[in-house]
Amino acid sequence: MQSHLNGFRIGNPEISKPSEQYHASSNSDTLPNEVDVLIVGCGPAGLTLAAQLAAFPDIKTRIVDQKSGPLLVGQVDGIACHTVEMFESYGFNEQVLKEAYWVNETTFWKPEAIQRKNIVRSDRIQNAEDGLSEFPHVILDQACVRDFFLELMRHSPSRLEPDYSRRMLDLLIDPAVNSEDYVSTYPVIARIERLDPSHEGQIEMVKARYVVGCDGAHSTVRKSIGRILRGDSAKQAWGVMDILADTDFPAIHLKSTIHSANKGNALIVPRGDGDMVRLYIELDKFKEGERLSNRDITPDHIVAAAQQILQPYTFEVKEIAWWTAYEIGQRLCDKFDDVPKNAIDKRFPCVFIAGDASHTQSPKTCHGMNVSMQDAFNLGWKLAAVIQGRCAPRLLHTYSLERRPVAEELIGFDCEFAKMCSAPPQDVGNADSEGIDPAEFQKYFVKQGRFMAGTATHYNPSIISAEPTHQHLAQELIIGMRFHSSPVIRLADAQPVHLGHTIKADGRWRLFAFSSADDPAAPSSGIRNLCEFLAESSDSPIRQYTPRGADIDSVIDVRVIFQQGHRELVLEKMPAFLIPKKGFYGLLDYEKIFCADLKCGNDIFETRKINRKLGCMVVVRPDQYIAHVLPLDGYAALKEFFDAFMIKIACQPISFSKETT
Ligand code: FAD
Repeated sequence: MQSHLNGFRIGNPEISKPSEQYHASSNSDTLPNEVDVLIVGCGPAGLTLAAQLAAFPDIKTRIVDQKSGPLLVGQVDGIACHTVEMFESYGFNEQVLKEAYWVNETTFWKPEAIQRKNIVRSDRIQNAEDGLSEFPHVILDQACVRDFFLELMRHSPSRLEPDYSRRMLDLLIDPAVNSEDYVSTYPVIARIERLDPSHEGQIEMVKARYVVGCDGAHSTVRKSIGRILRGDSAKQAWGVMDILADTDFPAIHLKSTIHSANKGNALIVPRGDGDMVRLYIELDKFKEGERLSNRDITPDHIVAAAQQILQPYTFEVKEIAWWTAYEIGQRLCDKFDDVPKNAIDKRFPCVFIAGDASHTQSPKTCHGMNVSMQDAFNLGWKLAAVIQGRCAPRLLHTYSLERRPVAEELIGFDCEFAKMCSAPPQDVGNADSEGIDPAEFQKYFVKQGRFMAGTATHYNPSIISAEPTHQHLAQELIIGMRFHSSPVIRLADAQPVHLGHTIKADGRWRLFAFSSADDPAAPSSGIRNLCEFLAESSDSPIRQYTPRGADIDSVIDVRVIFQQGHRELVLEKMPAFLIPKKGFYGLLDYEKIFCADLKCGNDIFETRKINRKLGCMVVVRPDQYIAHVLPLDGYAALKEFFDAFMIKIACQPISFSKETT
């Protein structure tokens, strides 16, 4: 962290200086008449988006929720490995890892062969395959995650706070949105009702450049743009409870999936505190036309069902901290923005839906919150780039284009998984027995580990996800997938770091240049030539897209990784472009150069199968996804890639070193 880049500051470096815009807009109890982005809903999707936009004080963002304050107890708790990777880019992964339960292993339980009413452990396996992510799959109450986001927003330059007790009623989109230059106008008018006792019933009208509906499965924003969630409604109820229990079930502190012979199925998920566990219990199937509201489900029903499933183990519930019963179907919207499919080439979107507003899954795969946050992470940097005039508004079409197929694929997986979870276990000794073989279920669970970890997402080629023409240069850094981090050593201070952790939720692109086997000090090494192109060519994306006076890495952050060990290289011989002057005092930034970590199994050139002879460039988007893999001298293709969606600001000589200033 370079916390004194713009001069020495005392105090917590995590707390940014409030921006001038913040001072101008603070102290107001009413919503402004005009905002750049209006976010509806303070669930996981809304907060992920708000926290990202809060980092840009020049973007006027507001987030409203009909609730009177932050959620106290959350329903969600499963956080996939890739979500922890995203938290790293926001800067609060360490707190999450400290407070969470780490799901290192999963146990599987099935009916005993003879006494089928009793369950017996069939296996105990590692939860995620080795090397899938540097982070584990964890369990943490949604309320804690919410607090981390709120704190981040509070400490951001915008000092963004949610506006509670405000219900979005409807919105109108100005028909002039079809015009090419609408981006500088406020085409959406939202009607918001105040619910707080002192202003109850008052209506606020807010004009917005963009509205994002993160308002859950019953989304008003979705209805306002005429979109519908289609799919199956659930035909089964599940009971969930967080409990303190006295039990001799030996896997109570491990994630456990239990298939009983004929008393139903259960999932046990421990909480991070060491005492509490969450039980998901399958309740009876609905009859035709029946809904959850027709059932009189009580905590006693859920406890009784758990006691039946867990036989022969004792199970006495001492306290119930929280419980609910739910039915969730797998449903999906046909598009996640307001532009009809046949009008994509005529206009740009200005209303979006994210999270449960656009797709719902069953909680069994623990994906709802994780996917919702990834939706918002995908959208946040795009909105910021367009509002700040760095990218063309056509970039915004890629949100629905990328996220809808992800939701569709996950729903397919969710349907299959949910069916397997609910199926009765086969009596393996009985040839006529129907149901699922517990061993098959376990195999499926292992096979789908990447889905569970959130690392399977693969975006199709688009203006921001290139064709895999040069994929062979970095076979394990797959275009369209998340940048899979690996350890490296920082040259200047011999600090072991994760390369992926240089990607922060700050809207910047990363260009990782992996050196060929050349001597980096040689006058015509691939890295030296690339630096020369980036610093001096009029085709350089750095020269074309970096605003005048901004730090050289403010739009595209170039980092170089050498194959040699860090003691074999000499910092003084590195191109000046890689040690640029930055910030108020023009201090040199020594954090751009890395070397392979040559300890056994850590060498990034090996783990990510990077061509040692040729090296390559890997372009990474602000949301951690790989956009392109190019030869080290693929200058024209690099320019062409960025030209497709970025707006040229200048082509000016850039100031990056003592010599050139
Ligand atoms: P929500 O969390 O539904 O938030 C929507 C917000 O919008 C709410 O705060 C609401 O008050 C507000 N709002 C709604 N309408 C308006 C309006 N008109 N005006 C203003 N505000 C409005 N997912 C996981 O990933 N892992 C899990 O372990 C997991 N466990 C679950 C357990 C249970 C029992 C259930 C029911 C779900 C679980 N899920 C889990 C799914 C997860 O809860 C959802 O997918 C996730 O909360 C969706 O987030 P969201 O931000 O899209 O919407």
